[in-house]
Amino acid sequence: MMKKYFLLLDFDGTLTPIVSRPRLAKLSAGRKNVLTKLAKRKDLAVAIVSGRELDDLKRRVGLKDVIYIGNHGFQIEAGNRLVVHPIARKSQKLMERVYKELKAAMNIAGVIIENKKYTLSVHYRRVKPGETGRVKRIFQKVTRPYLANKKIKVTGGKKVFEVRPNVVWDKGKAVAWLLERYNKGNAIPVYIGDDTTDEDAFRYLNDKGETILVGRKKTLARRRLASIEAVYKLLKELLIDGRI
Ligand SMILES: [Mg+2]
Repeated sequence: MMKKYFLLLDFDGTLTPIVSRPRLAKLSAGRKNVLTKLAKRKDLAVAIVSGRELDDLKRRVGLKDVIYIGNHGFQIEAGNRLVVHPIARKSQKLMERVYKELKAAMNIAGVIIENKKYTLSVHYRRVKPGETGRVKRIFQKVTRPYLANKKIKVTGGKKVFEVRPNVVWDKGKAVAWLLERYNKGNAIPVYIGDDTTDEDAFRYLNDKGETILVGRKKTLARRRLASIEAVYKLLKELLIDGRI
């Protein structure tokens, strides 16, 4: 059967609420059930797209028959095939070094530094409001020499700073790569996301399919949904009438 839609769904803030500690994010049974039904549909392809490390993402989503894009696109698992961006693969030691330096320098309560193998995240959601400036200053101090050497790139999101290998690659590029290889039937791509890093995908997909932002921030997406509840309402309607 021809696929009608190729769903590309961000995880945190889109399918699950943003939580104070990343490891607390959990898909409820009811919501997992909706995603399971979507994944089984012959007229749909489903990919979960996240900044999380791939294994972490897979554990939290827990679905078979879906494509996983982890680490902002540096890891892609489709079918039995796992693809890691070659430059990301080479950057593992560098990330380990930056991780250790950040760990040693960031003596601020509430900061969570995540080593995601190919990228790093510094979460500051749980830091006292008066201390966020200090988090930023320490982050900049540690990353500055690596930025000067063009070894890394830094980006940000909702209460998070990120370190990535210095390569032109993001959720948009990863989605483009995926669709070229796995969307032979030209299903309509539908991307739903809530954060800054999703904008790269919106930019790429705007003239190709549906782009939907969850929330109120300024965006390139063509449509908006107010909340995660609204995302599931749309997905349930899709299960019933087969249309977005
Ligand atoms: Mg998100």
